[in-house]
Amino acid sequence: MPSMSKARVVTRFAPSPTGYLHLGHAYSALLNFDQARMAGGKFVLRIEDIDQQRCRPEYETAIFDDLGWLGITWDDVPLKQSDRFAVYEAQLLQLHDRGLIYRCFRTRKDIENAAGAPHGPPLSVFRSAPLAAREERDNLAGGRPYAWRLSLSAAEESLGSAFQSLSFQEATDKGLVEKPANPTLLGDVVLGRKDSGTSYHLSSVLDDATQGVTHVTRGEDLYEAAGLHVLLHRLMGLTPPIYCHHKLILDSEGKRLAKRDKSATLRHLRETGVTGKEVRARLFPN
Ligand code: GLU
Repeated sequence: MPSMSKARVVTRFAPSPTGYLHLGHAYSALLNFDQARMAGGKFVLRIEDIDQQRCRPEYETAIFDDLGWLGITWDDVPLKQSDRFAVYEAQLLQLHDRGLIYRCFRTRKDIENAAGAPHGPPLSVFRSAPLAAREERDNLAGGRPYAWRLSLSAAEESLGSAFQSLSFQEATDKGLVEKPANPTLLGDVVLGRKDSGTSYHLSSVLDDATQGVTHVTRGEDLYEAAGLHVLLHRLMGLTPPIYCHHKLILDSEGKRLAKRDKSATLRHLRETGVTGKEVRARLFPN
């Protein structure tokens, strides 16, 4: 595990209650918990429940139960994102006032068809611009739903030459390494979804700052997101944390675990008599 400075370390675990936690979550939660405890810092919890369609109270209860079973305790009152929609909205309005985000009325299909290719460009590299004022007014008057998208062009203009050289600090076994952020990889990402009014990216960045998180340790599947998150921190005048991307826990066939894989859920293990200590020993054999 990477070494860390002992000053004011705050780590976090930020699950979404859209299913039962699995071994991958346990790995991430234990890493963060241990990092904080070893550094004499804080470990905080955040319930990422902005997707009100998919989140369920029983999954949220199970998060607390599973963490307790793993021997994990947390500092502070857990932050619940569904309590903070007004905060996210206020931030989006500010970003809009600064010209950094724009309303996008397109549907997924529109975007896929835009390039005229049979399957269109990947959604992930979509880049566009605000509509002309009149067209936008007409769309709004017609009640058409829209998402808020980050304008990479406006972000680049706002940051100037710093945009190209954006980087983040990654904690590795060899110490802190400066990594290029490449914030354009994901295109003009959605920061405010049509349904929830916010997004994982916006809420996660804002809440890491609100909770004073200094070290974000999470799965390597989120490596590219870190580059975008650093850009968002910068645009909102926040201090980015140090990142650490850990390996993903795979099933016996080498596939990534998913919440739908019942046998790998912590709840299932708990019910079949496995102890939290045994899970820790299995995930951290040395
Ligand atoms: N709610 C996200 C997840 O469960 C958190 C990702 C993160 O740690 O930033 O994947």
